[in-house]
Amino acid sequence: MVTIDIVPALRDNYMYLISDPVTKIAAVVDPVEPEQLIAKAAERGVEIQSVLTTHSHWDHAGGNNKIKGLVSTLTEIYGGVGDGVEACSKEVDHGDVITVGNIKVTVLATPCHTQGHISFFIDQQENVEQPAVFSGDTMFVGGCGNFNGGTPEQMYHSMCKVLGKLPPKTLVYCGHEYTKRNLAFAAYAEPGNLKIFNKIEWCNKVQCTVPSTIESELETNPFVRVHVPTIQQFTKETNPVQCLFRVRKMKDEWGKTH
Ligand SMILES: [Zn+2]
Repeated sequence: MVTIDIVPALRDNYMYLISDPVTKIAAVVDPVEPEQLIAKAAERGVEIQSVLTTHSHWDHAGGNNKIKGLVSTLTEIYGGVGDGVEACSKEVDHGDVITVGNIKVTVLATPCHTQGHISFFIDQQENVEQPAVFSGDTMFVGGCGNFNGGTPEQMYHSMCKVLGKLPPKTLVYCGHEYTKRNLAFAAYAEPGNLKIFNKIEWCNKVQCTVPSTIESELETNPFVRVHVPTIQQFTKETNPVQCLFRVRKMKDEWGKTH
């Protein structure tokens, strides 16, 4: 059974340790503060062989050189094509498969927040009961990342056509704990959506809101609900790409006063 450990870092970042208990081989996701992941790997008795980097921003990739110096068993540091990830030894693109022991991890191109942003998907397979995706700063619980230089078409593709189409039970492990704020906006966008209010109530009782699931995101995250009448009425846009763009803009506006 694949084991996924959630390790918080900095103020609100998440790093992850993916371990294959059969081979005792592990990978880390976005190890900005490597010491904590190294300690977790030691606790589990696994050897870190690879770094999976979602994107080049310092709070995700900024520990890559450091972990390279600290972990002698490390053989590869993965990053998206053209993203300029720190210490990247192998650039990967949509559909590429990385192995962590016996576990297969598929690369999904999810550009917009950065042009080479990637997500890592563990599909159902031997020793994996429930699929999981590491979505970095593309899909958050209840939200999505800033566009930075990306286009609405890119974010629509990444959120709705790639991540949103994963099996509904897929666990979603994102790059930041932004859930409370995201869901406060989601509730403002859809005041009649009870699922959002139930999730807010749950969030108020827990420290860590990951993992979510794709199913839960499809029910509560306005950025993947751009085909739903309530979100289209909220944005006054029926074109899903333009609708997503409006949700982003309206959230940024809302954010100035909330
Ligand atoms: Zn970022």
